[in-house]
Amino acid sequence: MRAFTYQRVTTPAEAAASARQTPGAKFIAGGTNLLDLMKLEIETPGHLIDVNGLGLDTIEPTAEGGLRIGALVRNTDLAADERVRRDYAVLSRALLAGASGQLRNRATTAGNLLQRTRCPYFYDTHQPCNKRLPGSGCAALEGFSRQHALVGVSDACIATHPSDMAVAMRVLDAVVETVKPDGSERRIALDDFYRAPGTTPHLETVLTPGELIVAVTLPPPSGGTHIYRKVRDRASYAFALVSVAAVIQPDGTGRVALGGVAHKPWRLDTADAQIPQGAQAVYDALFAGAKPTPENQFKLILAKRTLASVLTEARA
Ligand SMILES: Cc1cc2nc3c(=O)[nH]c(=O)nc-3n(C[C@H](O)[C@H](O)[C@H](O)COP(=O)(O)OP(=O)(O)OC[C@H]3O[C@@H](n4cnc5c(N)ncnc54)[C@H](O)[C@@H]3O)c2cc1C
Ligand code: SF4
Repeated sequence: MRAFTYQRVTTPAEAAASARQTPGAKFIAGGTNLLDLMKLEIETPGHLIDVNGLGLDTIEPTAEGGLRIGALVRNTDLAADERVRRDYAVLSRALLAGASGQLRNRATTAGNLLQRTRCPYFYDTHQPCNKRLPGSGCAALEGFSRQHALVGVSDACIATHPSDMAVAMRVLDAVVETVKPDGSERRIALDDFYRAPGTTPHLETVLTPGELIVAVTLPPPSGGTHIYRKVRDRASYAFALVSVAAVIQPDGTGRVALGGVAHKPWRLDTADAQIPQGAQAVYDALFAGAKPTPENQFKLILAKRTLASVLTEARA
């Protein structure tokens, strides 16, 4: 691990000022992803800004009737919140499908959104990886790609985003609230938050250097049946091969977002519009542009069957 300096901050303004003064600084929240990456020298920040003292750890109702989830709310607390369990059950279920109890006790809302891919070549510093070392190539294209993306891929990177929570937040139309180092604030719809890999897969979100996530807001509850189905190699403590987050209304309309298939939670309006027609039509819309590898094409069938199973369960 490379040497770094460490600072605790107590206000978002102090955090932003510190980020502005120290190029290459990183925020640290639960540390469950960042510290692993630092030990492997995949991430080498010279300065860590500990945001745990910012008080961004509450879940408050919004004036519109939704929920505002502080960036530091732990995954365990968010999953257990009575309002989340009642009105946004897909989110609670997705959180509980992720990691382990011990990790969820540390992992935060913002850190979960910003966790890095689990592509094995990203973690193996002896392998080319455009995301870790821009311009070095992509070992996964000709390598082991069983867990990789089916859609939204580029010739530079076929990695997936590993978060379960983000898939549920996408189906719930979540919005990310941030503060930039100059003090300006912005709200970013989760669909616009993650960048497509293109030729720059190392740039994963639209956040600018030093931009701090302060909260994630959910719109008022939409009702309906909430399902999160995660298909993985083990029953626990494993990332999704394919996951489906669904909110289905009694009239048969609804929304679905998929995890494990793209660089971000994969949801398309054209696919949502097909939900009353059934799983095949939804699948066709979601995967029209799919570019599977020989190793991961089984995930197309898996996605279709998981969608069918979830829609059948929702209608029952
Ligand atoms: C063994 C293991 C299994 C796991 N399994 C799953 C799983 O099945 N499903 C799943 O979804 N996840 C899984 N995870 C990932 C886990 O959910 C993430 O590591 C965790 O959510 C990250 O949150 P954190 O607060 O610890 O982030 P940190 O490690 O502290 O930070 C992660 C990133 O977010 C940045 N950051 C943190 N807070 C802010 C902020 N407020 N503003 C701007 N940037 C910020 C940091 O700079 C860093 O780049 C697993 C992790 C491990 C180690
Ligand atoms: S898929 Fe992306 S993360 Fe994996 S080796 Fe290729 S460039 Fe790196």
